Amino acid sequence: MKEKSEASSDFAKKKTLLEQRQYLPIFAVRQQLLNIIRDNSIVIVVGETGSGKTTQLTQYLHEDGYTSYGMVGCTQPRRVAAMSVAKRVSEEIGTNLGEEVGYAIRFEDCTSEKTLIKYMTDGILLRESLRESDLDHYSAVIMDEAHERSLNTDVLFGLLREVVSRRTDLKLIVTSATMDSDKFAAFFGNVPIFHIPGRTFPVDILFSKTPQEDYVEAAVKQALQIHLSGLIGDILIFMPGQEDIEVRDMALAVKNAPALAVLPIYSQLPSDLQAKIFQKAPDGVRKCIVATNIAETSLTVDGIMFVVDSGYCKLKVFNPRIGMDALQVYPISQANANQRSGRAGRTGPGQCYRLYTQSAYKNEMLTTTIPEIQRTNLANVVLLLKSLGVQDLLLFHFMDPPPEDNMLNSMYQLWILGALDNTGGLTPTGRLMVEFPLDPALSKVLIVSCDMGCSADILIIVSMLSVPAIFYRPKVRDQVREKFAVPESDHLTYLNVYMQWKNNNYSSAWCNEHFIHTKAMRKVREVRSQLKDIMVQQRMNLISCGSDWDIIRKCICAAYFHQAAKLKGIGEYVNVRTGMPCHLHPTSSLFGMGYTPDYIIYHELVMTTKEYMQCVTAVDGEWLAELGPMFYSIKHAGRSRQVRQSACKD
Ligand code: ADP
Ligand code: MG
Repeated sequence: MKEKSEASSDFAKKKTLLEQRQYLPIFAVRQQLLNIIRDNSIVIVVGETGSGKTTQLTQYLHEDGYTSYGMVGCTQPRRVAAMSVAKRVSEEIGTNLGEEVGYAIRFEDCTSEKTLIKYMTDGILLRESLRESDLDHYSAVIMDEAHERSLNTDVLFGLLREVVSRRTDLKLIVTSATMDSDKFAAFFGNVPIFHIPGRTFPVDILFSKTPQEDYVEAAVKQALQIHLSGLIGDILIFMPGQEDIEVRDMALAVKNAPALAVLPIYSQLPSDLQAKIFQKAPDGVRKCIVATNIAETSLTVDGIMFVVDSGYCKLKVFNPRIGMDALQVYPISQANANQRSGRAGRTGPGQCYRLYTQSAYKNEMLTTTIPEIQRTNLANVVLLLKSLGVQDLLLFHFMDPPPEDNMLNSMYQLWILGALDNTGGLTPTGRLMVEFPLDPALSKVLIVSCDMGCSADILIIVSMLSVPAIFYRPKVRDQVREKFAVPESDHLTYLNVYMQWKNNNYSSAWCNEHFIHTKAMRKVREVRSQLKDIMVQQRMNLISCGSDWDIIRKCICAAYFHQAAKLKGIGEYVNVRTGMPCHLHPTSSLFGMGYTPDYIIYHELVMTTKEYMQCVTAVDGEWLAELGPMFYSIKHAGRSRQVRQSACKD
């Protein structure tokens, strides 16, 4: 009896999902779309956000028989989108996630033998193309969100163009939410563009009269004003980054406004919390979603009537001053602004409050954002393309070629790490580095650790570094210091945390007690096991150096010597190569401890109000000279010895 009623309620749910599917704009053109795909190898599909491209195209291809001879793959620039959309589609089809419909993101493969529709990040497909250059497992590939122009998507463009010319049975569909599709069509050889007719309502655009000093404060004010105005409809606020969203969350909660459900969404948010943004709020409660630009086109939430746009987003941009990428807050482009306001007009007429002036929009914003390939470090791309046998990267068919300087700089970095030889060819170390889904320096440290006899320990450290947010924020410092801090190294502190967790049987109670995210630690364990598999496959030996942690510090130095800083004054450091001042991050075990080593290396720089070095380890000056001779040498002056840049010997 019980079974039956469950089955019928299940049916009711399916029916409404089916109705929802049929209501989407793409449904009206389903057959035309399938026809054009039948007749062409490559098709560009353009449609407004929310028209059903991401959730429906895969299913249409499946229904039309494409999955009988291969998977239908769909790439996303964002991990969250890949996961969330796969979940939605598995519900629409009525299967468990990971069976017919699955997803894969770095370190997380939720697919099985049964999988027919696979959502994945573009990075995953790029790595798959290393193993299987013709992507034989796929009958169709949808490159979604092409307008985002992510680095991996741009590289895939060049590769897939070739694959399609070799495999006539492969369908390639490139989707975009914006109208810049002519460029895509031209790149792939004047292929057809299919427009999904939109269904949008007018949106009133309201600019600020004067520039806003504090966009967080301005956004809170604006949202509350809307909320208290009595008008109905949900609110969507666009913020540049997670930190602003957390601040915002608190600010709104303090006001304790009546019946307002404040829901954050950003890529690092745990997935159970992410799902909340799609749930309908209880009657009488207004949803206020606070999002990064993930909600611009990747995820569509129904029922938004009001958009509040801070005018900023975070972008990864190569910073020549520090010689590496930095995530920084930038003004959005006009294209972003228009996408954002469009979110308010999906289910009815809406309003968009832009927290910037009309003149800023017209005169200061770029028309479109510069593609990632033209503004970020390309070391990983260079490594991948080299291993695919692309000899001259400057000749690779990019839609928008990266600046030559950028390419050469990335090659230089790889040369420093020993991945490229003097002629620009891949070295055995470089070849091995490609095997790991990691940044080149992290792969390098793993490789070196085998020779130095501390690979088991480094494996743990690398895994810890590959997972965000191990510690709960506010308590971090005191807790970490008391219990785990290794005074000379944050890397070793991480190792220490993991070892203690292991010694406590991987207990979650232990994590809670020490303000450590259990989920994050489980992820570390998972990452560790996946990296270990690769090491075993590559016949790299796993050995621990026991308690001789100096070896570990030296090993880290061997892959990070190019990111070294020297003590300048009390608690003040300068970059050894550039002389640029940089500061210990307050969460570092070395911060304010009275122990100030002469030389440290850092894992990364974060730029907020100052340049902060995050995750640092004390090193010997002599190690720098020994391991990074292209940069440093030892200067003997009387009894004191100093490391200096070897390029400027007197
Ligand atoms: P597009 O890719 O064209 O922007 P989508 O296929 O992502 O459109 O979205 C179509 C519809 O599916 C939207 O109305 C959206 O609300 C719904 N949808 C998408 N993902 C989810 C999800 N994870 N949960 C609930 N609804 C979703
Ligand atoms: Mg989409």
